[in-house]
Amino acid sequence: MSAIFDAISEPVARRVTAGLAKIGLVLRSRAWKGAGTAGVTPTQGHALALLRDAPDGMRLAGLAKLLGISAPTASDMINALVAKGLVAKQPGPDRRSINLMLTPEGEASADRTREWPDFLADAVDTLPAGEQAGLLRGLVRVIRALQVNGDIPVQRMCVSCRFFRPYVHDDPVNPHHCAYVDAPFGDRHLRLNCGEHQLADPVEQEEHWQRFIAPTDAQLPQTR
Ligand code: SF4
Repeated sequence: MSAIFDAISEPVARRVTAGLAKIGLVLRSRAWKGAGTAGVTPTQGHALALLRDAPDGMRLAGLAKLLGISAPTASDMINALVAKGLVAKQPGPDRRSINLMLTPEGEASADRTREWPDFLADAVDTLPAGEQAGLLRGLVRVIRALQVNGDIPVQRMCVSCRFFRPYVHDDPVNPHHCAYVDAPFGDRHLRLNCGEHQLADPVEQEEHWQRFIAPTDAQLPQTR
C-alpha cells in the first residue's frame, strides 16, 4: 500500500524544505518585531549576537563573512551600532587593525535580542531528547552542504573545527571528543557557533566529515 503514497507524495527533500520555509517565515516576522523592541535591525541583532560570542572581539572582515554581507555594508552597519553606543572600535593586536567589541550596553542588547527565537526553542523542546539530537545532527549536515555550495559563509561548527574528533569513543551516547576542553561529547552537544572554534585544514576537515557521517549514512534507507 505504501506504493500509493510513493506515487502521490512529493520527494521528502521538498516537503522538508517547505517545512523549513514555514519556520523561516515565522522567524523573519518575529525578528522584525524583536528588532523593533530592541531598537536594532535583524542584521544588527545578528551582529551583536556574533560579537557576544567573541569575548576577544572580531575584525570587520570576519564579521562581514559570518553575516554573509559585503565589507562596505558591514562597515555602515557597525558605524550605526557605534553611534548607538552598542559597539566600540579598539586597536587590534597588531595596532594597524581595528577590533570590534561590545560595550556593556551592547552586551545587554545582545542578550535581549538573542531571546527572539525562544518561541521556537519551546516548540523544539516538545520533541523527545533523541529527536532533538537527530534534528541538530540533520541541521549540521544541511548547514555544511550550504557552506560547501557557497550559499552561506563558513560557520563555527564542530564539524569544521580542528579540535573535533568524531567517533573516537566506544560510548554510543558520547562518541565524539573535543580536544579543546579534552572531553567526550555526543550529537546533542554539537555546536553551531562555538567561541573556541578554529578552522581545521581542508584535508583534516574532509577526513573528520567522512568519519562523522559514516555511521548514519550506513544505516539510513534511501527515501524519496
Ligand atoms: S572547540 Fe568548540 S567547535 Fe571545536 S570541537 Fe570543541 S566544542 Fe566543537
